[in-house]
Amino acid sequence: MTTNHYDVVIVGGGLAGLSAAAYLSSKGKKVVLLERGALGGRAVTLKIKGFNFNFGAHAIYGRDTSVLKTFEKELGLNIDWQDFNPNKARYDLGDDLTAVPANVQGLFRTKLVKGFDKVLFTFEILKTMLKMETGHPHLSIQKWMEKQNVSEEVKEMMLTLASSNFFTREPEKIPSDVFFTYYRRIFTTNKPVAYIGGGWQALIEEFVRVIEANNGTIMTKTKVESFRVENDKVVAAVTPEAEFTGDEFISCIPPKEMTKVFKDTKLEHAIAQYATYEPTVVVVYDIGLKQRIDVPYTYIYDKQNNIFITDISYYDKTCVPEGGQLLQATAYLRQSEVGVKEVVEQRKQEIEQLYDKHFPGWREELVVPRVSTRAVVQEIKWTMNQEALPISLPDYRNLFFAGDWCEGQGQLSELSFSSAYEVSKLILSK
Ligand SMILES: Cc1cc2nc3c(=O)[nH]c(=O)nc-3n(C[C@H](O)[C@H](O)[C@H](O)COP(=O)(O)OP(=O)(O)OC[C@H]3O[C@@H](n4cnc5c(N)ncnc54)[C@H](O)[C@@H]3O)c2cc1C
Repeated sequence: MTTNHYDVVIVGGGLAGLSAAAYLSSKGKKVVLLERGALGGRAVTLKIKGFNFNFGAHAIYGRDTSVLKTFEKELGLNIDWQDFNPNKARYDLGDDLTAVPANVQGLFRTKLVKGFDKVLFTFEILKTMLKMETGHPHLSIQKWMEKQNVSEEVKEMMLTLASSNFFTREPEKIPSDVFFTYYRRIFTTNKPVAYIGGGWQALIEEFVRVIEANNGTIMTKTKVESFRVENDKVVAAVTPEAEFTGDEFISCIPPKEMTKVFKDTKLEHAIAQYATYEPTVVVVYDIGLKQRIDVPYTYIYDKQNNIFITDISYYDKTCVPEGGQLLQATAYLRQSEVGVKEVVEQRKQEIEQLYDKHFPGWREELVVPRVSTRAVVQEIKWTMNQEALPISLPDYRNLFFAGDWCEGQGQLSELSFSSAYEVSKLILSK
């Protein structure tokens, strides 16, 4: 067995591992990134019949205040931002379409809240932006609304916003402080939603470019099977062929996988709790069409069924063959629905009906569908009885954690980027 020594050994080549490796190598650290499969993790882009399907991540929320923006600036990443047009977003209310209150214009145009309730809701947003309303970590949105005695319409509006943005059919369970922190960010940004030209693969390639330019080592198809520990330190990440010793370690693999690699160490017990937490799971049903079906909107959210469709090819022309269209649809699930075959089938049919309603003729234009019946959007879902993993634990002081299951800013990939950034800063300042 060969042994190689590095300043920092990073395990897991998703967005968290890639961004940490790029950042640390750019600051002069000798890093190795070990990935069991291909790079990208859940942000990988799959090319099928000329269409680039984003397997997981589609959009970046609040890009101007995001940690990815910080990485972009500090690492000189080339990102082809394609900003979403909020005026092209609609809620489907069943018998009517209305504007999404993703910005002030949308708020004034939406029919979801009317009259005095609109004034009340606007006031809530203003308070949120001014940090006068922050929610409470011990109150779910449901409990917070009961306590504040909010009107039925405002309640409906808040739950719709929470549901559509947190990928959940059970928005009432979200902790109210998480909700308000998220909304403060979204309502104070100038770029609420953006896509990446070339898909997320383009971003992955940019991180790889930086790592390689700074003499970092990337090893794919390299599965770490265990960590070797001595007293209060991690000393090596072990694969069947080699040991990777290091001064510092970053584990960018989900808690369920961590319970295996940290078996028989002091961490086994601490990590076990996080491995039992429920993830946010959705059904994805994307379609590649040979010809565009143009409609006046590029995002539609079916309020009743909690399904959204995005016309990603409107923004990123490179993801389709000439003249084609790529529509991405996601149906949210209740926890009790996850993995239930009949429900998943029904959700797929509901997505097809939504395509029928808004993109009539899609079946004739269909070149390739891509379905994922159990896609993990966030490894640890925001609910009142779950919490994110801290970025370090007292057992081993040279071991850090990053990923969308960790404490950090925002949600989804923003958690991966922010935890990777915080961990990298901690290592650099040691
Ligand atoms: C359908 C869907 C839609 C989404 N939409 C959005 C969106 O619009 N916006 C957004 O910001 N985010 C979105 N996300 C979430 C986003 O994709 C994730 O938050 C992000 O990709 C997570 O990155 P990560 O590095 O934290 O974890 P992961 O991507 O899970 O990376 C973990 C990596 O570790 C590797 N690994 C595991 N075990 C080992 C081992 N033993 N040895 C070596 N390597 C190992 C895995 O192969 C993997 O590459 C979406 C996700 C899905 C599924």
